[in-house]
Amino acid sequence: MSQPDIHCIFCKIAAGAIPSRKVYEDEEFFAFHDIHPAAPVHLLIIPKAHIDSLAQVGPAHEGLLGRMLLLAPRLALEQGCKPYPEGGFRTVVNTGQEGGQEVHHLHLHVMGGPRPWLRG
Ligand code: 5GP
Ligand code: ZN
Repeated sequence: MSQPDIHCIFCKIAAGAIPSRKVYEDEEFFAFHDIHPAAPVHLLIIPKAHIDSLAQVGPAHEGLLGRMLLLAPRLALEQGCKPYPEGGFRTVVNTGQEGGQEVHHLHLHVMGGPRPWLRG
């Protein structure tokens, strides 16, 4: 598992060195509000360990990826998304330049809330 990268903005957020609007933290994950929300609820869930992107994961990350995805419905509801099926949320993992990834620390976008949204 990769160690925190001192140059990575999300490693700094997970460590509390850069402030964020935190919504959840445990030993393995940190979740916070996106600074430029594309929807009324827009969370980012990140592993505390630095992983560049979804392109870098392998079998060793199976459990981590499962636990990260399991946090999405829980945090979405806690942060005000209405329940499925009327409500719900969108999950996105941008990967690489052509995938639209700007921050190269694996993160799961969780977006929801009443429409219209800024994007999508
Ligand atoms: P990406 O395009 O890499 O999938 O998404 C990166 C996301 O991180 C963007 O939606 C952007 O608004 C968000 N972001 C970038 N820097 C910061 C920051 O310093 N604080 C917070 N809360 N969000 C950030
Ligand atoms: Zn990082």
